[in-house]
Amino acid sequence: MVKIERGAEKPITEVAEDHWNLISPYIKAQERYHDYSLVMRVVRKRDFYQNNGNAARTAFYNELLDADCALLKEIILVRPETTPALIARMNALYARHGLAHGSADPGSLGHEILHEVFDYENWRRSVKSKRLLTMLGIDVCPYCNMLPVWVHWDEERQLAIVSYDHFYDKATYPYLCLSFYNLIPACSPCNENFKQQRTFTPVTHFHPYLDHYDDGNTFDHDYANDLTPYTITLDHTDERSPVFNFDLGIVNRINLPNERRYAKLIHRASQRYPDSVKEEMIELWGLADLHEVEQKICQEEEIPFKQSEILNRTCGKMQRDFALKGRIFSRENPLL
Ligand SMILES: [Zn+2]
Repeated sequence: MVKIERGAEKPITEVAEDHWNLISPYIKAQERYHDYSLVMRVVRKRDFYQNNGNAARTAFYNELLDADCALLKEIILVRPETTPALIARMNALYARHGLAHGSADPGSLGHEILHEVFDYENWRRSVKSKRLLTMLGIDVCPYCNMLPVWVHWDEERQLAIVSYDHFYDKATYPYLCLSFYNLIPACSPCNENFKQQRTFTPVTHFHPYLDHYDDGNTFDHDYANDLTPYTITLDHTDERSPVFNFDLGIVNRINLPNERRYAKLIHRASQRYPDSVKEEMIELWGLADLHEVEQKICQEEEIPFKQSEILNRTCGKMQRDFALKGRIFSRENPLL
């Protein structure tokens, strides 16, 4: 709903580097990668094929490891804008060595990458996947903003299960299964019921690392009182919105009881704070001006005030739009 970087504990490029270091730890004193690192899993696989005379797969893994693992590192850190170019390079690499794409066939290279070499499922269950979620500072699904990111943590067994969606699906692009910008922490319905293996690209859909969904979409409602039926609607200015909102079922999900409640609550809150009351609050709360009053009202009413708060609040985007509609605060407020 807003770019993921807003909630991160440090610049997003540094979080991406930390992700690489977590999956490929380097032991400086011994000048080598850890035995359990991604790099060493690639090395062992390369050695296996070398010993068994499989020239194509040996060459493939060698290309990942060449020049101090340049391509392997690029795969993990590739930015959304340059992912299409990387995919083209990987297509050429596969073609050069006569290798097949995809991961469906258990004997395929894609299957091997996904389940053995990159070993996505084990990463997802490890403390590293939970650590990534913490570094990103995300509590609520960046696709729908309606449900929490799905995470289970077993302290005793140090076992995590976090739901990550792959923006580029991992069945078609198995080598992108651990790529930082391709791992979107998501709620279970978005990941498993709505997006599934649909083809998303930054051209057709909002990418949570690239785009502010908040800028191109606005929630509205026509709640007036409890006696009159009302609906929540979603207006948009971004041309990607209809497809994005349809694919993730957003339009149907916003009129569920839990979401509808916000229209009523925030409409009532807006009635409690007309401009005359806000003026009185300046003195009553000992604040400097109306801008501070608006911020304080949002704190009191638990309404997201700054755009960055949307990522950590269920229906934060919707609540903020309703508060703007109800003039609880204005877009001109310099404290935003
Ligand atoms: Zn979701």
